[in-house]
Amino acid sequence: MASKSYPLTPKKVEPVNTKFRTMLGTFPVPDSIPLLESLRRWEPQSMEGQPPVVWDHAEGFQVYDKYGNKWLDFSSGVLITNAGHGRKEIAQAITDQVNKGLLSHYCFPGEPRAKLAERLVQLAPAEMDKAFILSTGSEAVECTLKLAKEVARQNHGEQKRVVVSFENAFHGRTLGAQLIGGIPALKEWIGPLDSSYVQVPFPDGYWTTDIGFDLFEKTLAAKNIDPKNVCAVITETYQGGGADFMPTDYMQALRAWCDTNEAALICDEVQAGFGRCGKTWGFEYYGIIPDMITCGKGISSSLPVSAVIGKAKYLDVFPPGSMTSTHTGNPICAAAAVANIDVIANDGLVANAARVGEIMHAELAKLAEKYHKHVGAVHGKGLVAAIQCVQPGSKEPDGDLAWDVVAGCVERGLLFFSPVGKQGCSVKICPPLCITEEAIKEGISVIDEAFQAALAARA
Ligand code: PMP
Repeated sequence: MASKSYPLTPKKVEPVNTKFRTMLGTFPVPDSIPLLESLRRWEPQSMEGQPPVVWDHAEGFQVYDKYGNKWLDFSSGVLITNAGHGRKEIAQAITDQVNKGLLSHYCFPGEPRAKLAERLVQLAPAEMDKAFILSTGSEAVECTLKLAKEVARQNHGEQKRVVVSFENAFHGRTLGAQLIGGIPALKEWIGPLDSSYVQVPFPDGYWTTDIGFDLFEKTLAAKNIDPKNVCAVITETYQGGGADFMPTDYMQALRAWCDTNEAALICDEVQAGFGRCGKTWGFEYYGIIPDMITCGKGISSSLPVSAVIGKAKYLDVFPPGSMTSTHTGNPICAAAAVANIDVIANDGLVANAARVGEIMHAELAKLAEKYHKHVGAVHGKGLVAAIQCVQPGSKEPDGDLAWDVVAGCVERGLLFFSPVGKQGCSVKICPPLCITEEAIKEGISVIDEAFQAALAARA
């Protein structure tokens, strides 16, 4: 993850005017500076990290400011708007619920929440029985840890409390989510860490070349962890930082290991779910069924909604009244999520993500070849990919190059969020799932231009 902010001094950029992009010639826009400065004045500096594009409205895979610029969006916000920005059906569901005059009802029964819980369980594998609706991805992640720990405690006692997660993992920014996160810099502030949260290398095939499941077992043994004391293993279905999937046989071995050791297997689908990878759920690629999944982001393509979906054995472990959240299944959020699930199904967006994703990965492979000295790996599936930049001829992450490529793209009308991954070396590509082949190809040609310009500036 990059720890930089963009300068707020307007500079001349090449004007652009294509079907998908309009840049009027100065960026950041001079008229937007007072607003950007106001944000810097009133918000913590930790909020400064994104390119200074002031979103005014957005539609499909386009984002507009109010000054006349138009971006082709490769960010989906941050993998939120799977159905596309500003979907009328979602806006209508929100408006209808608002017009009904019920804006909130805590955990009292309500129709939209009932509908959403049922739809989520129906969307999940048959082995999953229940859905608990929450507000953020981090909250869903925390909830799975709690459920897994309590099931283990009730069945096996206090010793069975170790949670295994992966190096470089990201599961959110609340305390529990950061404890299981695998990015040391994000949790230095916590102080001495609870030894029952353990990380093992993630078999991404690039940074970690030993991708056999043996390494999982060897790492636990080296850390003196008795497998019988593990209550849960949690992994992002693909690691967000590099869009890295694990090998199928690794995940299958992990599933078997969890069964043998009676540990819950939790797939964090906050990024991967709702069609992002060209299947409804990312874990479908592995031919396994987790015990619980977490979802968020693309669940609504709009308002804050998240969920834990899983087996009743886990979801029902706490008694009535003991697992509440003030905004659980807020009726407006729930109505938005149901409408979003309908849009994704009715528009065939999962299939579109698979089809256009294939074209995108083929184009990215050409780009990786062209810049092979600077691109260590391009990973991902469906409509998610990360171009991981490295110092020439090495595996040293090159966060500065990724930063310059993202900045160069944004100035050319192609919208990204700031680089993520190892030392901020990943340019992450994750457009709305309604994107077309033509738009994907134009976007990748812009990345090519930005690479050329960034490397030329270094020469
Ligand atoms: N899990 C994963 C895999 C994520 O990518 C994120 C957010 N980027 C989260 C959890 C946390 O979600 P939220 O920001 O909604 O709390």
